[in-house]
Amino acid sequence: MNLLNTLVVKTLRYIPKSVIGAVASRYIAGETLPDAMNKVRQLNGENALATVDVLGEDIFTQDQATESKYNSVEVLNAIAKLSLNSNLSVKLTSLGLKMEKQFCIGNMDEIVSTAKRQNNFVRIDMEDHTCTDDTLEVYRVMRSRYSNVGIVIQAYLHRSEGDIRALAAERTNVRLCKGIYNEPPQVAIKDRVGIQQNYLTLLRILFEAGCYVGIATHDDVLIDGAKKMIVELNISKDKYEYQMLLGVRDEKRKQLIAEGHRLRVYVPFGRDWYGYSVRRLKENPQMAGHVFKAMFGIGQ
Ligand SMILES: Cc1cc2nc3c(=O)[nH]c(=O)nc-3n(C[C@H](O)[C@H](O)[C@H](O)COP(=O)(O)OP(=O)(O)OC[C@H]3O[C@@H](n4cnc5c(N)ncnc54)[C@H](O)[C@@H]3O)c2cc1C
Repeated sequence: MNLLNTLVVKTLRYIPKSVIGAVASRYIAGETLPDAMNKVRQLNGENALATVDVLGEDIFTQDQATESKYNSVEVLNAIAKLSLNSNLSVKLTSLGLKMEKQFCIGNMDEIVSTAKRQNNFVRIDMEDHTCTDDTLEVYRVMRSRYSNVGIVIQAYLHRSEGDIRALAAERTNVRLCKGIYNEPPQVAIKDRVGIQQNYLTLLRILFEAGCYVGIATHDDVLIDGAKKMIVELNISKDKYEYQMLLGVRDEKRKQLIAEGHRLRVYVPFGRDWYGYSVRRLKENPQMAGHVFKAMFGIGQ
């Protein structure tokens, strides 16, 4: 990351929310459910699948968690009503994971059972490392009741190979990503090449076990590494999908679809867009330029 980007990352919290909103709007479908459904319809028209996420995490009251649950159920109902090709992604902290696990499990049960009735699927996002054990536990409770649920594993965590081996033995549907949270070196690999190597190691374990994998990355080293592995291990097209975030590497997405790979786009929406947007901006190599343009009205 260049000096200017580093400076902007360090000062992001002082940048007006309106500027962050303007720059980050490419990563968010909008604030409302119709905004999200319109985006999914557009993506489906481009032969991309979608997974919709109602933005919000780390809530503090049971009322907020209950509202998150209703929002997710509404998303599933809208997808079914409009016959869109999309599933749902959820963050367990938005459903009360840090308040009371049983309450969170109850909320998840309503969501996953709704999806089950609609022949749809729910992916549990992975949050920072303090949530990993509880997230896996809730996933396993759900999996013992329903088949239409999957999990995310982060290649940067030292523990992930052990988790992947256990999940592979259970034939879990796994989304594999690098990991987005700023974790300490005690728990996470910190160098780019080390994370890439671990990602490919974990991907191989999942493929060899016959698991369905969501290959969630925009990194050419991993996209191409996965392609090679798919050929080498003769993995059929119905055993994996590439996954990308809305607003990131649109041309690459179209290329992968044109090559015949299944591809799913993560479509976040909602009023609680700030935290998600800041994480995306920090990853954007051209962020400083975009922020300056938005601040000074250049090209608006
Ligand atoms: C579908 C999906 C779901 C995810 N779910 C989770 C989750 O549950 N838990 C979790 O911790 N993480 C999740 N992530 C985030 C993931 O862990 C990484 O932080 C993120 O994908 C960046 O890593 P990368 O593999 O794309 O590689 P990077 O090296 O970060 O990116 C590769 C290239 O992509 C481009 N790029 C990347 N990000 C941006 C951006 N914001 N704007 C513009 N260009 C960009 C750049 O050209 C960059 O060089 C998810 C990612 C995806 C795609």
